[in-house]
Amino acid sequence: MDVHLDANSDTGDLPTDVFRKHGHELIDWIAAYLDDPTRYPVLSQVRPGDTIAALPTSAPAQSEEMTDILADFERVIMPGITHWNNPSFFAYFAISASIPGILGELLAAALDTNAMLWKSSPSATELEMVVLDWLRQALGLKAGWFGVINDTASISTMLALVAARERADLGVRENGLSGRDDVPVLRVYCSEHAHSSVDKGAITVGFGHENVVHIPVDEEFRMRPEALAAAIAEDRKHGFLPVAVVATIGTTSTTSIDPVPAIADICEREGVWLHVDGAYGGSAGIVPELRHYLDGADRADSMVVNPHKWLFTPVDCSVLWVKDRALLKRAFSLVPEYLVTAESGEVVDLMDYGVQLGRRFRSLKLWMVMRSFGTEGLASRIREHVRLAQEFAKWVEAEAGWEIMAPHPFSLVCFRYAPAGMAEEQRNVLNQKILDGVNATGDAFLSHTKLGGRFVLRLAIGNIRTEEKHVGRVWQVLKETAVRIVA
Ligand code: PLP
Repeated sequence: MDVHLDANSDTGDLPTDVFRKHGHELIDWIAAYLDDPTRYPVLSQVRPGDTIAALPTSAPAQSEEMTDILADFERVIMPGITHWNNPSFFAYFAISASIPGILGELLAAALDTNAMLWKSSPSATELEMVVLDWLRQALGLKAGWFGVINDTASISTMLALVAARERADLGVRENGLSGRDDVPVLRVYCSEHAHSSVDKGAITVGFGHENVVHIPVDEEFRMRPEALAAAIAEDRKHGFLPVAVVATIGTTSTTSIDPVPAIADICEREGVWLHVDGAYGGSAGIVPELRHYLDGADRADSMVVNPHKWLFTPVDCSVLWVKDRALLKRAFSLVPEYLVTAESGEVVDLMDYGVQLGRRFRSLKLWMVMRSFGTEGLASRIREHVRLAQEFAKWVEAEAGWEIMAPHPFSLVCFRYAPAGMAEEQRNVLNQKILDGVNATGDAFLSHTKLGGRFVLRLAIGNIRTEEKHVGRVWQVLKETAVRIVA
């Protein structure tokens, strides 16, 4: 068959020459944006409801010109954008889209493949397998993991909990959990500082929030293994069934690192699934001198690392590795007749390894990022972020009235302004005001946490465009804001 579209075909889509025109304009717009994202306030300054109010309440019935749509993008949408790509974005875990990642997203959107089956896009399936093995090696993890890309760590962790539940062999896949008196109470353990996605995962898969046991931490915010062992022993006494432990390498509040080797000992002894949440900190394994922070991760049953957090890959891209590929498949595979193929069972059909059927071609952007930077290029950027964070911490330590609030092994610093003689409650109020004051300038965006009841500022460095001058500038703004508020 030799039937082609020609340039004059009226498909109802925009003609490709319109695509060329606006595509070129948009690439120019993106290049100018990336040349200087600081033209915009880093934290959007719109008020709740402003964007809704600026948009029509229903869709246009008739076609609108792309020129008008793009003009409205600038006029209506841009003011409500918080600029994660701004080098002075220091909130949450600062993340960024690198240029190879943006190009990968463009191609993935154009191809619009759906790699649910091997056959529905062989390259998308096989590239995912290859690129995740590249990443495994780059992080210094041993062979023997099988990886899939999900949208977020929240989903990756939830899938790991389902795999853990499947390994417990309770017939939950077949019979569910409700109405059964032959299933004990299932328990999941993580530290008090674990990400809320562990709780949400446990809620979603039917363990129940009450059955997430938050293990106390030590003075450096790391899970206390002896408290974990005691909690498991206590639960067994009550007839509960410990199913999974989640250890974190790089917790959200402080980037503390749970003692994974000691936790792995307990999990092996108790026959409990170990999932490692390295959503942020896992990427540090690419830097040889930081790799020791991942010690013990190889002993886990599953691990999550988010290239969309600290590997300069546009959101979304979260890697879940499991040791037992067959078990993950047993947990999720369900193949209706219309998805049976000649290759079924012989190839990897990615739909078998999670909840979703359809999936975006996310490995393309990761492949492009890894090739364009090379593992050494990625390592040098992460190394620089860690250096900048350590510099910032030194400035804080050297400044009267300011203090560091947690160890800072990676690129996040927790600190506060705590003038002598001020009550703790007042210090909390003061630091909240400093945070709001800095964020209102539009020059930088920071976030906060609470440690032992104390309001703590968080400066997270992770944006590929962040340089020492940006860190220096936010330190200046912080000090000026503090002086202004105290005055
Ligand atoms: N785990 C940790 C340690 C995190 O810090 C975060 C988010 O910051 C998550 C999990 C959840 O990540 P995601 O947004 O990909 O679900």
